[in-house]
Amino acid sequence: MKIVLLGPPGAGKGTQAKSISNRYSIPHISTGDIFRKNISENTPLGIEAKKHIDKGQLVPDEVTINMVKDRLQQDDCKNGYLLDGFPRTVNQAEALQEFLNSRNEDLDTALLIEVPTGFILERMTGRRVCPSCGASYHIKFNPPTAQGKCDVCGSDVIQRKDDTEETVSERLDVYERQTQPLIDFYKERNLLSTVDGTQAINEVFESICNILGSL
Ligand code: ADP
Ligand code: ADP
Ligand code: ZN
Repeated sequence: MKIVLLGPPGAGKGTQAKSISNRYSIPHISTGDIFRKNISENTPLGIEAKKHIDKGQLVPDEVTINMVKDRLQQDDCKNGYLLDGFPRTVNQAEALQEFLNSRNEDLDTALLIEVPTGFILERMTGRRVCPSCGASYHIKFNPPTAQGKCDVCGSDVIQRKDDTEETVSERLDVYERQTQPLIDFYKERNLLSTVDGTQAINEVFESICNILGSL
């Protein structure tokens, strides 16, 4: 199964990706997580990415596309993968299609988690993440069982530096301008499926499983 997750920042892509990845035994590839890991390790890629991420802007396509292509050629992607946060521009979507075409493959679906803008700010400013395993929590909607500690690995959860009110509004602008056009891109290719992301986390997951089960 090869899946692309679409949706605005804060839609719940990362949250659902963890569950989908477990259920379907496919790797969860989050470009945001890969960038953050590189930032924490101070790699050249991390240093370049940080300049853009801290401002709420996109990392340049060339850097991002090469990074994803490398990742998709690793062994664990043989039986499929779940892309979370990529593609984010039409350029990236075209590069992904070319990559797939060159291997005689195609996506199974681009799954849009639909959440109106009015929900986003509260979701993102209340988000807490695990810096070790990438798990995503929310102070109100999905708090960790032991306060401040990741359920999965026990690390202290943190607030992302780009989850402040200011940066969130820039990221929403970027989403509308650069990423929203991908909805039509995948619709035109008959690959789009849509789930209502305003439901509770477990209900969203159930709806996603129904969609994936009927492909
Ligand atoms: P994305 O990867 O799309 O940016 P996340 O999965 O990190 O989004 O979710 C953003 C925030 O919203 C997190 O704090 C998460 O716990 C919370 N969240 C995710 N899905 C839901 C939901 N269905 N209802 C309420 N809060 C949610
Ligand atoms: P969210 O789901 O909350 O928007 P992500 O973790 O997916 O956050 O991404 C965080 C940041 O990393 C983005 O705001 C952007 O700067 C950068 N980024 C992630 N994926 C991409 C991508 N495909 N292209 C360009 N920049 C990206
Ligand atoms: Zn963790």
